[in-house]
Amino acid sequence: MMEVPSVRPLIFCSPLRYVQGPDLTDRLADELESVGLSGPALVVAGNRVIGLLAPRWAESFASRGWVHRVRVFGGECTQHEVEQIVLESESLQAAVLIGCGGGKVLDAVRAAAAARKVPFVSCPTVASTDAPTSALSVIYRNDGSVDSSIIHKRNPDLVLVDSRVIAHSPPRFFASGIGDAMSTWYEAASATASNSPTMRGGRATAAAVALARLCRDIVFADGVEALDDCRHNRVTPALERVIEAATLLSGLGFESAGLAAAHAVHNGLCALSQTHSLLHGEKVAFGTLVHLALEQTVLPTLERSVEIDRLAHFFIQIGLPVTLEELHVPDLDASRTTIAARATIPTETMHNMPFHVDASMVSAAIVAADAAGRKAHATTRIGL
Ligand SMILES: [Zn+2]
Repeated sequence: MMEVPSVRPLIFCSPLRYVQGPDLTDRLADELESVGLSGPALVVAGNRVIGLLAPRWAESFASRGWVHRVRVFGGECTQHEVEQIVLESESLQAAVLIGCGGGKVLDAVRAAAAARKVPFVSCPTVASTDAPTSALSVIYRNDGSVDSSIIHKRNPDLVLVDSRVIAHSPPRFFASGIGDAMSTWYEAASATASNSPTMRGGRATAAAVALARLCRDIVFADGVEALDDCRHNRVTPALERVIEAATLLSGLGFESAGLAAAHAVHNGLCALSQTHSLLHGEKVAFGTLVHLALEQTVLPTLERSVEIDRLAHFFIQIGLPVTLEELHVPDLDASRTTIAARATIPTETMHNMPFHVDASMVSAAIVAADAAGRKAHATTRIGL
């Protein structure tokens, strides 16, 4: 047999411990202890989450006699916010930093923990992105555009997901997580086919690729039912499966198998202020349609055209945007040019596609994705 030509090693990164189940918030201190952590702990969260969970954190920390402090998150993951969290954690001499909330809180606290070289604990209260398990922080500017993406050295020491909290989270956030999760397999497959380095600089393991595929399969099978459970605040097996897919499988999949066009298009969409009211996964969902449309122009197959159609119908069922109009983006050459230019800058994961991609190809793929979305809406309306 031929030897493997690449010198790049297989790399798989993950959190030290992932726990998921109803009412785990009450076990926060016990779970910290199970990975060898203790107070003082700085907990950072938004006001809604603090109102909901602070008494339970206090009880849990008190049961072990650990000092903790709660800080209100500033609302955006900016460099300034990260610095403020660092300063507060220094004043507390925090031994662990805990982020509770959505992707932006987690990213900011993760960056602050990395700066202080203390462990980071991730407690997602919405299943809206695959940020919780990763070592990645996306830093935004004050105007909401993406500033930089930083890969830290360590994944979280602990990821604690209280599925009852997720069941009571806004359904729109749950739907967004489904959109983000759905991109994982398509991007992993493309990044692996091009032998691109993963987010952690290695080659994708078979494990990461399998997890990415499983993520897609679970979301397709259980996504609609789980979203309905979230709307009714029910912790069910379908809800638990989709939380695991959107949080653990998607997180491990994107980080250890790779991103490609879908997330690059997301970053392109963020360059337009009209999209700032949309959630990460809502933009990634459309980015996934663009991803497949790009592949279809270069390597057209009947299977892929069926897949684009299936995906557009699924996104419509979930309430995710499949057209430029639903993304509040004017259907103009100028908007497409802006998105495509940002999506193809040299550092973008767009270049992990298994063929050369330029801005004009992305622009054309946006037109094709939008057309697929419109067609899916039309067939949905007439009951096809
Ligand atoms: Zn994502």
